[in-house]
Amino acid sequence: MCIEICPVEGIFARSDEIGARGFQPVLVDPEGCTGCMLCELLCPDLAITVEEDETHG
Ligand code: SF4
Repeated sequence: MCIEICPVEGIFARSDEIGARGFQPVLVDPEGCTGCMLCELLCPDLAITVEEDETHG
């Protein structure tokens, strides 16, 4: 769902591998994230927390 929802292409991507729980894990590259919070608000598993990166001024 996050792959489809995120307005920034390339942040979320489906892994080519199957994880231990039988799912394809989602890979995350937060570069370019606008902080819109859509992924956090709409994730049915509450698996995403969007936080400001304080290492970048
Ligand atoms: S908060 Fe960032 S990663 Fe989440 S949907 Fe918005 S742009 Fe995409």
